[in-house]
Amino acid sequence: MADTSIPPGTVWLVGAGPGDPELLTRKAERLIRSASVIFHDALVGPGVLALALATARMVPVGKRSGRHSKDQATIDRLIVDAALAGERVVRLKGGDPSIFGRSNEELEACRAAGVPVHVCPGVTAASAAAASLGLSLTLRGLARRLTFVTAHARAGEELGLDWRALADPQATLAVYMGKAAAPAVSARLIEAGLVPDTPVVLVENASLPGERHFSTRLDLLPLAARTALGDGPAVILIGRSLAGFVPHAVDVARTGDKKVTPEPGEAPAS
Ligand code: SAH
Repeated sequence: MADTSIPPGTVWLVGAGPGDPELLTRKAERLIRSASVIFHDALVGPGVLALALATARMVPVGKRSGRHSKDQATIDRLIVDAALAGERVVRLKGGDPSIFGRSNEELEACRAAGVPVHVCPGVTAASAAAASLGLSLTLRGLARRLTFVTAHARAGEELGLDWRALADPQATLAVYMGKAAAPAVSARLIEAGLVPDTPVVLVENASLPGERHFSTRLDLLPLAARTALGDGPAVILIGRSLAGFVPHAVDVARTGDKKVTPEPGEAPAS
């Protein structure tokens, strides 16, 4: 039976998590099952989309790097118009809507139009990646700060990050959208004082069937990002907390998983 927990004319921004439907919150699942229309990102996993009602209208509004299928203003308008037409609207976003999800634009657009809007959080990519690696992103006394940073810049533009602040040996950096900028991230952090052998782990497709991990060090990050990653979304984790990653142990635990071997001459972080 259809769950009608979204009142008509209301919008929910829902965190879809990193891909594995098991990582959805129960609330997210309930909202997805209640929607009459779902506007979803490219990164929302097929297992999550499959939870929608058969009658729900599914509208992809995904943005993949360099290929913006709909601009933000169009997405804002679509959501607002659907709500004003009396639909039960779910705007499904990868990971957590509040982390690099442009949710603020959508919240403001709804509020400006007088449309009731709510947010359901989700598991962010860095959390899913850490869980897959079997480690903690913070370490008591050693990694006291966790920084979420996006290394996505418009074509031809500088990243414009405060590298000095980011190059904190007591921090763990979770770099989102960082594949293309990996050479700059590596060079700037080392220039700003992080030691070249700072442990780095790249996690691609966290929680999805094609998940891959690649362990390296900060000075070798550009090579790893270029050669070890496929087309999937990847998060780059940097810092001492990654020293605890034991690739073999994770591999054994994840039976049947293909493992990427380090490049020749590349020292694993652990
Ligand atoms: N709101 C999302 C982030 C959106 S930005 C969240 O909280 O996770 C998109 C970036 O998130 C990707 O470029 C990648 O860096 C990261 N990402 C999203 N899903 C991922 C996954 N399953 N595995 C690894 N990284 C992922």
